[in-house]
Amino acid sequence: MKPAFSICVYCGSRPGADPRFAQVAVEVGRWIGEHGGQLVYGGGNNGLMGVLAGAALAAGARVVGVIPHAMVEREWARRDCTELHIVDNMHQRKGMMAERADAFLALPGGIGTFEEFFEAWTWRHVGFHEKPIGLLDTGGYYQSLLSFLREGVQQGFMDDRQMKMLTVGAEPGVVLAKLVEEVGPNPRRMDLSQI
Ligand code: AMP
Repeated sequence: MKPAFSICVYCGSRPGADPRFAQVAVEVGRWIGEHGGQLVYGGGNNGLMGVLAGAALAAGARVVGVIPHAMVEREWARRDCTELHIVDNMHQRKGMMAERADAFLALPGGIGTFEEFFEAWTWRHVGFHEKPIGLLDTGGYYQSLLSFLREGVQQGFMDDRQMKMLTVGAEPGVVLAKLVEEVGPNPRRMDLSQI
């Protein structure tokens, strides 16, 4: 059966210091499964990524993992994904993840998570896609980033239109429901030829 929606989740390949991070990864995976959705993610089994995928699979979600072959060992590719795609490189990974998803959501994470989140956002800003983007601010982890982004607006390097592209919140169910609502019945466009 076709999933009700497909969401690409970016998150840490480490668990982070606060136990709420793993808790929120479980809640996101579970929510996707319980709402008949599909998770698209990096295919690994370490840190929050593994927790997220495990919770999604346990809740009956389709899970699509996309991992470059050079990272299969390093990130402990999850062979129990519904679909595991082992691709040639990071660009293919990110392109396929973006194409297979209707929306993007970043959980707490490190530089890999930041890079993917900013890439999805900048791709939308330049018009390569129209998919909703969310940021899950668990335990205030992203507060300093958000204030820096507002500084970017203040200083004239960014604008409100860009900020309004983001759905930010601390409650996984609320953020996920908003993203799915924004997707609506028709999957959003993604122009892979531009990336
Ligand atoms: P991190 O948030 O640093 O723990 O990384 C989370 C995920 O981001 C990992 O699966 C990385 O493979 C991935 N990632 C995405 N883009 C990149 C990139 N350009 N360089 C390195 N890792 C990346």
